[in-house]
Amino acid sequence: MRLYSLSFITVLLFSTAVPANAEKTLRVETLPGVVKQGDACFVRASGPASLTSIYGEFQGERFPMASGVQNGTYEGLLGIDLNIRPAAYEIKFLATDGEGKVYRSGLWLKVKRADFKTQRLSLPSPMVDLDAETLERVDREEKRLKALFQGFREERLWGGPFVRPVPGEVTTGFGLRRIINGQPRSPHTGVDLRGEKGTPVWACNSGVVALVDQLFFSGKSVILDHGWGLYSMYFHLSETLVGEGDRVRTGAMLGRVGSTGRSTRPHLHWAIRIRGARVDPLSLVKSTEHLRE
Ligand SMILES: [Zn+2]
Repeated sequence: MRLYSLSFITVLLFSTAVPANAEKTLRVETLPGVVKQGDACFVRASGPASLTSIYGEFQGERFPMASGVQNGTYEGLLGIDLNIRPAAYEIKFLATDGEGKVYRSGLWLKVKRADFKTQRLSLPSPMVDLDAETLERVDREEKRLKALFQGFREERLWGGPFVRPVPGEVTTGFGLRRIINGQPRSPHTGVDLRGEKGTPVWACNSGVVALVDQLFFSGKSVILDHGWGLYSMYFHLSETLVGEGDRVRTGAMLGRVGSTGRSTRPHLHWAIRIRGARVDPLSLVKSTEHLRE
């Protein structure tokens, strides 16, 4: 009897400690719950269906969120750059409903160190050292891509799960650190997927074609803008089949696998940027898998 009374009191105390209506709160979570350097991270919130605005804040920068398929759910994507310092980061959320009521929430996201491999290569100098003219071209192309990735389209064009652009397995993983002739080079910020020359390359999600060009390192290239600062890249193609400005849907054919640019055999270099963060495309596939109906 005594025990019964105690638990009854506990229930009463607990009931008054939480808001009377649970729908008046904003619950937030990330998928996965703990991430590592170079991961894409799906963010999900649930709360009142009447929210008129909702956004998150990570490292002092806002990121957009929008309604999910289910009523009262909201979703967004975060990019955890491959060079971020491993630590716990606070993510804050702010939402308002039609009546001007403000909802705040937050969570701490643990970022673990990724185990990126290092590859040491010795190559003849002419293969590595570029002449002045080529250096200038490379510099110009890098600046152009950098400016492109700073773009931010308010409209969300992606939806549902991200898919692999070719079925082939990974031949060079994401984040590989390369040291050529004793000099550290840029890390591998995409994945190389195996594919015979001519294999169709598909859009990993819906978007608009932001770039079609032949670049020095990446050869024939296509870049898609998926909105909200999310871009996908398809490099070393033998052929491109879309034009800048084209709207494409998930699975649309963008071109064919090739070995153009700095490449030794046919393969697809596939890369993703999320508001500037360089993330492993396969982690984006994994963190959005659950959106499959
Ligand atoms: Zn590559």
